[in-house]
Amino acid sequence: MKRAVYPGTFDPVTFGHLDIIERSSRIFDEVIVGILVNHAKVPLFTVEERLEMIERAVRQMPNVKVMSFDGLLIDFAKSQDAGFLVRGLRAVTDFEYELQMTQTNKVIAPEIDTIFLTTSLKYSYLSSSTVKELASFGSDIDRFVPAHVADRIKEKYRK
Ligand code: ADP
Repeated sequence: MKRAVYPGTFDPVTFGHLDIIERSSRIFDEVIVGILVNHAKVPLFTVEERLEMIERAVRQMPNVKVMSFDGLLIDFAKSQDAGFLVRGLRAVTDFEYELQMTQTNKVIAPEIDTIFLTTSLKYSYLSSSTVKELASFGSDIDRFVPAHVADRIKEKYRK
């Protein structure tokens, strides 16, 4: 059984993330979307809200599971018996950081491999931060995130 963890902050999930999730679900038997409880960042959405939004977006993908985790990604992957990590690469700017992370993880857990999926061109510019910034200025974000996510973002900025 090939099980992969796709980790991230997902604050909130975008069509870019969903593209990676959908494509990995066709490569692996099971994909666990792991929402990192990141104490260094102050997120717009709570972990529970992020979990709920992703779960709703992946309903049509039976081999995708959504969980949150605290602590080291490698420990989480081991606890789930996952042999692979999935990361998305958008641009060269992502590369250096991702390479460093991957090599560190490989030293800590040589049995776990990281697989990179390059972004689909139409989402290469897309990030959660851009979506939040646009929404904060009242700009339309419906092209970037599922409708239920767009509603939640708009609701946050109305407050
Ligand atoms: P992190 O804070 O860990 O980078 P993100 O939620 O921003 O978390 O991203 C999670 C993963 O999804 C990362 O591997 C990132 O490169 C990838 N990703 C983010 N946006 C896109 C996109 N538009 N297309 C493809 N991959 C993406």
